[in-house]
Amino acid sequence: MPKLPEFIPVDAASLLCTKCGAKPGIACGTLKNGTELIHAERIKAAATKGTAVRKAPRK
Ligand SMILES: [Zn+2]
Repeated sequence: MPKLPEFIPVDAASLLCTKCGAKPGIACGTLKNGTELIHAERIKAAATKGTAVRKAPRK
C-alpha cells in the first residue's frame, strides 16, 4: 500500500503557473505579511510531476 505523500515532492514555485501565468521561481502573489501565494493549479501540477518522478527509477 503506497504511502500518501504529506508534502509536495516538487516545488510548485519551480513550475509555470497555468492559472495566472506566473513564471517559474516567481510566486503567484504575495500577502502583506510577505507570505507567497501559489495557486492550487500550480500545486496540483507539481504534485502530478512529483508522482511521475517518483515512479521513474532513480538508478
Ligand atoms: Zn498563479
